[in-house]
Amino acid sequence: MEKVTLITGGSRGIGRAPALQLAAEGHWVCLSYLSRRELAENVVEEIRQQGGKALALQADVADESSVRALFTELDRRRLPLSGLVNNAGMLLPQSSIEHLDAARVNAILATNVTGTLLCAREAVRRMARRHGGSGGAIVNVSSAAARLGAPHEYIDYAASKGAVDTLILGLAKEVAPQGIRVNGVRPGFIDTDMHAAGGEPGRIARVQSTLPMRRGGQPREVAEAIAWLLSARASYVTGSFIDLAGGV
Ligand code: NAP
Repeated sequence: MEKVTLITGGSRGIGRAPALQLAAEGHWVCLSYLSRRELAENVVEEIRQQGGKALALQADVADESSVRALFTELDRRRLPLSGLVNNAGMLLPQSSIEHLDAARVNAILATNVTGTLLCAREAVRRMARRHGGSGGAIVNVSSAAARLGAPHEYIDYAASKGAVDTLILGLAKEVAPQGIRVNGVRPGFIDTDMHAAGGEPGRIARVQSTLPMRRGGQPREVAEAIAWLLSARASYVTGSFIDLAGGV
């Protein structure tokens, strides 16, 4: 049976890479985006030109009604979900704790934690055997920040990814009997726009000499791990993490 995989935040950065790879491996790919429709449509076009099947849908993962509408649209198109990559995420400009406020922290938690949980809920409702589903696999994109804490940069973001890690541990056990595997990837220092959103576009260039591998990572290197975790090759793997941070 054809695999149908939803990648949130598939318009650019890390999410774009598994969209391309999974489509090349035969998945029917649905990628969601927040506001950059043109970039998302470009990814879809690239996939279609390579003979793959893809679709882009707008959704704000921090908004429950938007998440519901995203999954309902997949139902309407008769695309039975077998995989979910919870990749959409955000951070805000680097800051020490003295300058954090509730609005900022809640915005980060709403996208990174609530959004991940809501998308996982909708996926489980469709994949679980007790709901007539065929099982499936979920990969959450966490971060090395969950282990490192990101002091003086974004401890709020790091804490949100710590919550994602804990969610993986609990959800994996909860839904294993339903035929659903839940795992995480923890990238670090990957070459995307996210560092500019944090106020330092040159962040990787600044830190790379301090990293064991002396370089940042590329989105396709994260995509390889995501594709493996979604595949049957990882059939006995659940509640696990793959760190992709060049040895940090
Ligand atoms: P990015 O280049 O900033 O891309 C973010 C993606 O998420 C975009 O597709 C964006 O859509 C989407 N998005 C943001 N907020 C959203 C929301 N509320 N609802 C739906 N979609 C939303 O970031 P990235 O570096 O690829 O990061 C992807 C994931 O990897 C994130 O979870 C991030 O925390 C994690 N990560 C990144 C790094 C790194 O070094 N880059 C390291 C560790 C973990 P639009 O294009 O429409 O804005």
